[in-house]
Amino acid sequence: MPDPYAPLVYLVGAGSGDPGLLTLRAVECLARADVVLHDKLVAKRVLDFAPPGVTRISVEELPGDHAERSPHVHQTMIDYARQGKVVVRLKGGDPHVFGRGAEEADAMRRAGIPYEIVPGITAALAAASCAEIPLTHRACSSAVALITGHENPTKAESSLDWSALARFPGTLVIYMGMARLELIVQVLLEKGKPPDTPAAIVQMASTGHQITRTTTLANLDRIARDEGLMPPAVILIGPVVEFRPPQAWFERRPLFGKRVLVTRPRYQAEEMVRCLEQLGALTYVLPVVEVSDPPDWRPVDEALERLNQYQWLVFTSANGVQRFFARLFHTGRDLRVVGALRLAAIGSATAAALKHLHLTPDVVPASFRSENLAATLAPLVKGQRVLLARADRGRELLRDELAKVAQVDQIAVYSQSDAADLDPHVLLALSRGEIGYVTLTSANIARALLTNLDETARLRIKSGDVKLVTISPVTSAAVRELGVEPAAEATEYTIDGVIDALVKLAGSG
Ligand code: SAH
Repeated sequence: MPDPYAPLVYLVGAGSGDPGLLTLRAVECLARADVVLHDKLVAKRVLDFAPPGVTRISVEELPGDHAERSPHVHQTMIDYARQGKVVVRLKGGDPHVFGRGAEEADAMRRAGIPYEIVPGITAALAAASCAEIPLTHRACSSAVALITGHENPTKAESSLDWSALARFPGTLVIYMGMARLELIVQVLLEKGKPPDTPAAIVQMASTGHQITRTTTLANLDRIARDEGLMPPAVILIGPVVEFRPPQAWFERRPLFGKRVLVTRPRYQAEEMVRCLEQLGALTYVLPVVEVSDPPDWRPVDEALERLNQYQWLVFTSANGVQRFFARLFHTGRDLRVVGALRLAAIGSATAAALKHLHLTPDVVPASFRSENLAATLAPLVKGQRVLLARADRGRELLRDELAKVAQVDQIAVYSQSDAADLDPHVLLALSRGEIGYVTLTSANIARALLTNLDETARLRIKSGDVKLVTISPVTSAAVRELGVEPAAEATEYTIDGVIDALVKLAGSG
């Protein structure tokens, strides 16, 4: 419901990269946005919390360079707000830590536009938790200074008192300091900071790209150069750096920094992506098959009319469950019409989709493939009528096997087709070898992906640069038919099984 008291402009801290570090309030604001005006550093995965139709504008698209852009940013927010649009101004980290949040709020106040400010996880906090360098510690640091390294420390007009900072009894955290690192170190040393003060650089904290190096103040610049460390990074200086374990929890996660491709349809990809991210992976999404309504609902509607003639209702995918029941409800029926039917599900995901509707399948085979479902069901359905609800393409094995002993009607409750457009950026990342692992969660998906790859990408698979992880022997067979070999196969034919196989594979090499 529109809230007449709700502000039109939200200055929202997007955190430091990981979508899991967004605040609940940030997600709420994004959900109601008409326009998202975002900083360059804000991750795409964070922007995806806004509704699909939202107008997305990167501040870089506005006129002027970084220094001159503020008036345009303010004006854009004002213009949209005056049209009654809800504007989320999404800023990296926290709006009030080197984020010009106060200037933007001031511009809104002057324009008479109500606003709200939502704090975010600033880079210093992300680095502290994800690189395990505490900002304060009872033993040695009771204060923290957040410092901009953007100003030239040797210039007289610098607003920073570097001799005070050199004496600061606590932890220094320098933002935007990589370009002037040499000068910053030099000034701190000149002003008396001991050269052996522990120091660290945390690049891209809280993302799968995170790199952490620890050293001393005197060696900081050399380490940064030798290791090619780059912005965005924060520099931490002080005894707290010594508390960092050799590897932080964040960096020890089993898929840390691994680049993994998810090929499921977009609406099914999210859960798998989040799971991979929590294991530390950098994820790419390339939906290679699309799921849509079947070309004709009539056969489904006719089957719904005579539902009471069947004894069994069999599902071979979670999609099948969702689409069948969506149609059933759409036609004005409710769950009571399946009350007398026995239900079978091919595997745990399909069973979970039924449970979601408060239906418990009577049969779920121990191992999830058509052969097993057919073998388990055949003796049970003998001489009975079976309705098989599934996609309009796929293996016919289940129908053929059951038809030997029962009367089977098969209906297509959804249509699956190869995606019309594949994201060229992701395809390029595959050819360039930027993606290390490709997950293939069905035979159709495997075929749709592999037939769309260029020769370079195929060679990368053959040479082992890009590793394929399949969900089942059937999917592996589809991969082999196309002339390449999977690197790993799930032992349990589920998404969790694929992730397990991926973790084992990543750990072995
Ligand atoms: N408002 C932001 C800071 C913007 S200034 C915040 O609160 O975090 C940009 C600087 O932030 C970068 O130069 C870098 O020093 C730091 N920064 C932003 N994201 C970072 C990240 N993920 N890891 C390390 N430093 C980061």
